[in-house]
Amino acid sequence: MEKPYSPLTLEPEVQAFWQQHQSFAANENTGKPKFYCLSMLPYPSGQLHMGHVRNYTIGDVISRLQRMLGKEVLQPMGWDAFGLPAENAALQNKVAPSEWTQKNIANMRTQLQRLGFAYDWSREIATCDPSYYRWEQWLFVQLFKQDLVYRKEALVNWDPVDHTVLANEQVIEGRGWRSSALVEQKMISQWFFKISAYADELLQGLENLPGWPEQVRTMQYNWIGRSVGAEVHFPVIDKDLLLTVYTTRADTLYGVTYLSIAPQHPLALQAAEKNPAIAEFIEHCKTGNIAEAARAKMEKLGMPSGFYARNPLTNEKLPIWIANYVVMDYGSGAVMAVPAHDERDHEFAQKYHLPMKEVIAAKDHDYQQSAYTDYGAVINSAEFDGLTSAEAKSAITKALEKLELGIEKIQYRLRDWGVSRQRYWGTPIPIIYCDKCGAVPVPEKDLPVILPQNIKLTAPNSPLPQLSEFVNVKCPKCGGAGRRETDTFDTFVESSWYFTRYTCPDQTTQMLDERANYWLPVDQYIGGIEHAVLHLLYARFFYKVLRDQGLVNTSEPFTRLLTQGMVLKDGAKMSKSKGNTVDPQQLIEQYGADTVRLFMMFAAPPEQSLEWSDAGVEGAHRYLKRLWKLAQTYLEHPTTHALDIASLNVEQKSVWQQIHQTIQKVTDDYTRRQTFNTAIASMMELTNTLIAFANQSSDNDRALQRQGLETLLLLISPIAPHVSHFLWKELGHTSPIIDAAWPQVEPAALETSTLTWIIQVNGKMRAQLTLSIALTDAEIEEAVLAQANVKKFITDKTIKKIIIVPKKLVNIVVI
Ligand SMILES: [Zn+2]
Repeated sequence: MEKPYSPLTLEPEVQAFWQQHQSFAANENTGKPKFYCLSMLPYPSGQLHMGHVRNYTIGDVISRLQRMLGKEVLQPMGWDAFGLPAENAALQNKVAPSEWTQKNIANMRTQLQRLGFAYDWSREIATCDPSYYRWEQWLFVQLFKQDLVYRKEALVNWDPVDHTVLANEQVIEGRGWRSSALVEQKMISQWFFKISAYADELLQGLENLPGWPEQVRTMQYNWIGRSVGAEVHFPVIDKDLLLTVYTTRADTLYGVTYLSIAPQHPLALQAAEKNPAIAEFIEHCKTGNIAEAARAKMEKLGMPSGFYARNPLTNEKLPIWIANYVVMDYGSGAVMAVPAHDERDHEFAQKYHLPMKEVIAAKDHDYQQSAYTDYGAVINSAEFDGLTSAEAKSAITKALEKLELGIEKIQYRLRDWGVSRQRYWGTPIPIIYCDKCGAVPVPEKDLPVILPQNIKLTAPNSPLPQLSEFVNVKCPKCGGAGRRETDTFDTFVESSWYFTRYTCPDQTTQMLDERANYWLPVDQYIGGIEHAVLHLLYARFFYKVLRDQGLVNTSEPFTRLLTQGMVLKDGAKMSKSKGNTVDPQQLIEQYGADTVRLFMMFAAPPEQSLEWSDAGVEGAHRYLKRLWKLAQTYLEHPTTHALDIASLNVEQKSVWQQIHQTIQKVTDDYTRRQTFNTAIASMMELTNTLIAFANQSSDNDRALQRQGLETLLLLISPIAPHVSHFLWKELGHTSPIIDAAWPQVEPAALETSTLTWIIQVNGKMRAQLTLSIALTDAEIEEAVLAQANVKKFITDKTIKKIIIVPKKLVNIVVI
């Protein structure tokens, strides 16, 4: 009686086995080469979604494969547990953020375990745990001492009704998410990491990451944005003041027709003192989201300041405008405007009827329509006329340098990383303010600064400033009255170094120990393309900082990066707001984890988007049932007979060949190409062959069936680990399939063992014949002459000669 495939019974049993044997605990002392495989840690929202399942399945398949290839594998999991949703939930549901978070973690951990992921759960971390964030605070204190963090004023989004600072994502179309009030921009003191000190190394390092997608490297390259340009000083008329701008187009200096300054620029504020209209305009500019993307989209507005400056080379008088798109905390808060050759300046000049001056030759260009932004030959620029843009950049910069009104300058688009958040649910910034001593870091012996727990949030702003037992502390330097910093870190800080902590999560006396250098760098990192810039750039920055603290001895954290595509349904990204989600939990309960995993890996290559299909899930389930049935059929008549290669007949040899071709293809697809879908397709083909061959019953047939079945189980085990674990055991193996070695290709099996010959009689094709390559010419002739269709044409004729064209054809000449 054949056993049915029942994954819902089988899978929990297999998972219990792994747990009982701590099968996936990583060990630094095995002497094996290491492999650190990591999927980006999730935010504990409470429920896994299909994007998680895809991400973690890919990571798990790679981990399990590497283990079978003989590596000591570390695959950890943890929780990016601080952040805004916990505060929102706390407000809505009257539950403490810590409680909400812990409940969600417990729920998602259960879901991950049910999917059978091979995590080393003994290394689980949650970033909201003081034993984790104390080391983040410790690192901040070290960087404070080394001037790699500093404090300065920066813009925040301010909700004037709720009296709270808003995160960019809490500003919806310029209004507060809760109050719907027009959001204002406000300057407040904030802490910054000096990432710009590493800008050049972050850029250079991109050259040494061949295992990263080109797209991600390009995005980081552009984000860092190194440019060689010039700083140009424009003397302000009737003031002892220079207006400094940075430009990458010094070749267009003669085309400047006005200057623009930010609304917060000191000169703008001066103008506002005497002009109420300007003051009103500046007030107006203070609304709206401070996020760069939002600012780029807004309407460009401006007002003349009433001040003028001179072009440092031509002495031409230029009006100074106040413009809402110029950013104060970026560069100097002033830009030179060349409407003929810059799109944004063009748009602004058209709107306010400002003059335009062409200084780059352009044939038949319609300046009413757009700016001409290409390089070319310089015109209308006095002695620089006729130079190319490149020559003019250098010559004009040199002329400015001579006048001491300019200098060549390399600039990065990358800005220092502002990490202060005026939120409750985050890591406290370990600083104490003292009227006498200023900002004093919390002494290391007093770390961690623990975030007060079990806070009932009643208002949208952080309760920390009102918690006097938290705020009022002694100054560590002078012992006088001090005030604790009540801002918390941006949650990107926690996710910038978590992957290092997995190597030694139980370390209580230091941030990292020597185990970090055993495991790091991460060999394979997997996550969404949406993290291409911020997270991956911050993590690279932190890693270099850790290196410079002597905590790790390499420079790049992630050797190979895979950015998985989205999960789509009906062509759109699955999302709650679109109502097109599929709940992974329901699928697991219906089909089991192996089916879900197999579907995820079969539906598309990992870097492409995956279109959800119920039929695809059904198909994956059907395949596993076929595999199950194939095993049961074999198990009715199992054998211990060793496969005798020498006596394989033609059909057996062809099966044997396909087994080894499949090993070769699957190995290459899994490792080099990372196209798991094509690997699965070839396993399915082998399955079909073995099913067709299953009724053969000689000893050698059954030995071959066994080899085919075992190979299939080994090859599919990283993807469908439960069913393969179970069947492997049923085949009589005493050690589990996770400890089996990856199957090896038998080179002899791949050699072509037969040849197909074209058989002609008097030059006309009469038959095709497949023969062993081992045959002699005499044996070939014998086989050809025995062919029925050949016989028909040579009966009653005399064979004059037989011509054999090696490996191709046999021609029988008869008369
Ligand atoms: Zn003090």
